[in-house]
Formats: sequence, structure tokens, C-alpha cells
Amino acid sequence: MRIDILTLFPEMCYSFLNESIIGRARSAGFIQIECRNIRDYTADKHNRVDDAPYGGGTGMIMQAQPVYDCFMSLCSDIGKKPHLIYMSPKGDVLTQSKAKQLMHYENIAVLCGHYEGVDQRVLDEIVDEEISIGDYVVTGGEMPALIFADCVARMVPGVLPNEDAFTLESHFGGLLEYPQYTRPYEWHGMKVPDVLISGHHANIKRWQNEKSLEITKEKRPDLLGKR
Ligand code: SAM
Repeated sequence: MRIDILTLFPEMCYSFLNESIIGRARSAGFIQIECRNIRDYTADKHNRVDDAPYGGGTGMIMQAQPVYDCFMSLCSDIGKKPHLIYMSPKGDVLTQSKAKQLMHYENIAVLCGHYEGVDQRVLDEIVDEEISIGDYVVTGGEMPALIFADCVARMVPGVLPNEDAFTLESHFGGLLEYPQYTRPYEWHGMKVPDVLISGHHANIKRWQNEKSLEITKEKRPDLLGKR
């Protein structure tokens, strides 16, 4: 799978993409995630990529031309049109099940807006869908794009040690995860639940399932309805 992030701030993205699990997965070739600088494609002699909004208003709007040319150059380089997602507070909110559906695309491109957003005409022409990270607004699409890429990448075979590492987590199966503990056995007077040190795998599994249900009921009862 290959994800291309179209952004005005590739270094901001690479500082995340080169680290930790995603950095190692990229180096090992389990997933390809690249960034393309939209500014490299501007036809403006002063390298501008934005302008004031028609109709007035605060802030600047990213112009259609550099975004379009950046995307077209990606299509030409990879020899196909990737599924293009625009990270936007107006999109469908990202969920684990949405990420599961999207990871079946071999090629995804993610467009990051900045400033006040992007000229609507280029969005209408090239974007396949809009995805939001939640009902709030952040400064740019870079963090949303990285959240999306991370969420998808960790389900790609090889990125995590095995499937349990992502299937037995909150949201994958529709529930929240049970509580987890590590050494020491006792900390600040609190002990690890006895069942977890019993070595009885069936009982441990039963306890984990019960806790998962209990926590979901308590913290996110809406998820039980969706299940
Ligand atoms: N003027 C836009 C609006 O009111 O809908 C918000 C623009 S925001 C300051 C700049 C960029 O950040 C957006 O173009 C988008 O790419 C990204 N962004 C902001 N909030 C987001 C969210 N909740 N989910 C995904 N992307 C977001």
C-alpha cells in the first residue's frame, strides 16, 4: 500500500513519519508513505500558493492550480489515479471501520488544506471523499493526514508484530479495550487483578471480555448500540 500526502509542510509530516513504528515500517518497506510539496508546483513567479477569498473574509485560500498540478504529477509518477481524500472538518468523521474499508485501496493520496482552506473548484474536480478527524478545527490538514495514515498503516501486514496487536484493541471489534497492567505487581498499594497472574488462559480471556463490555457500557454506551 502507498499513501501520498500532498502538503505545504512536508517536513512537518516527515518528522512524524520517520519515527517509531511507522518510521520502521517505512524503512522495512511494509508501507510506503511519501509527501509532496504543493508549493513545488506553483506557476506563480513569487512561489505563492494562496490568495484572498472572493467575497471577503479573514485568512487566505489555497489556490486551485498548484493543488491540481501537484496531484496530476503524482498520478503521472505512479501511473494511476489514487483514491484522493481531502482532510476537512466538513468530511465524515474517521472511524476504525472507515479506516478498515480504506486500507483496501492500493494507492491513497491525502490532500492537506491550510490557512482558511482550498479553492472549492479543485476539490470538486479531483477529490473522491472528505474525511474529518472530529468536530473541531485545527490549523492545517497535516496532523489529520498523519492520524489517518497512522491509523491505516498499523493495520497493514508487517507493520505491527501480528494481527492481535490491532484487532484486540479499542474500536476494532466495536468495543473498548480491557485494562492492562505491567510490572511491578503492586504499585501505590494497588495490586494487579489475581486472574491475570493465574496463568489460566480461558479465565483471563473471560475476564478481558467482561471488562471490555463493562468499560464500553460505562464510557461509550453508544458503541454497544452500533454493534
Ligand atoms: N475554513 C475551514 C472551515 O471552516 O471548514 C477550516 C480551515 S482549517 C483552519 C485549515 C485546514 O485544516 C483545512 O483545509 C483542513 O485540511 C484541515 N482541518 C482542520 N480541521 C480539520 C478536521 N477536523 N479534520 C480534518 N482536517 C481538518
